[in-house]
Amino acid sequence: MPEMLETPNPTFLEECGGRLREQRRALLRALATSDGELASLEVHQAGGRSEDAATDVATSIVSRLETRDKQELEELEQALERLEYGTFGLCESCAEQIPLRRLRVVPATRYCLACQKKREAEGA
Ligand SMILES: [Zn+2]
Repeated sequence: MPEMLETPNPTFLEECGGRLREQRRALLRALATSDGELASLEVHQAGGRSEDAATDVATSIVSRLETRDKQELEELEQALERLEYGTFGLCESCAEQIPLRRLRVVPATRYCLACQKKREAEGA
């Protein structure tokens, strides 16, 4: 079966979005340093009026993150943005459809396997 012909359907996108949000939440939760921060994030999870406060907390957590954590979080955020704008699942380098099998394993990925390997080989 040629993988290239696969395109993400709404159910698949929803599944990826759910996993991205879950990963983002888990990361923020792991990085929260106080009960207050944790509580705000939990409220955020339920949705509703405290969303601004939760965003502030998330921002303050992000501001003290180590580079690696920050990068991970940014990749999750960007993947969620791509979902919103309808470009999710396209390689940022060659614009080809990333195989769904790969997206399922790493929904936050930005590159197809070929471009990822090329970048790693170049030390990017
Ligand atoms: Zn590519």
